[in-house]
Amino acid sequence: MSHHDRARRHEAAGFTCIRCKLQVPGEAWGTKHRNHCPACLYSRHVDEQPGDRASPCRAPMEPIGIEVRAPDGEWAIIHRCTACAIIKTNRIAGDDSERALLALVMRPLARPAFPLDDIRG
Ligand SMILES: [Zn+2]
Ligand SMILES: [Zn+2]
Repeated sequence: MSHHDRARRHEAAGFTCIRCKLQVPGEAWGTKHRNHCPACLYSRHVDEQPGDRASPCRAPMEPIGIEVRAPDGEWAIIHRCTACAIIKTNRIAGDDSERALLALVMRPLARPAFPLDDIRG
């Protein structure tokens, strides 16, 4: 008999942040699969598809930017794996650090690749 009685893993069990070692609870507002740290926004490359925990990579994923999603303007964090350079985007959670999110948004403005004076006229 082979109906699916695989041991169900508790996705909501939480994790320890790979970067700042914060104990991150699995449940948060606005997300079912919390996959990044609410303090430093780092993630970890564990999924091939969202929530499947099937990737053998396991390297830290650095937050590199913010995506504003249409049509409702919801924010997502763009993560890049520090080992294999894959890019993934993840919805922000209700308790993500607003300071850390804004720092991510401000990063290109703090280091413009062209003179900002030129865009006023
Ligand atoms: Zn962290
Ligand atoms: Zn990776």
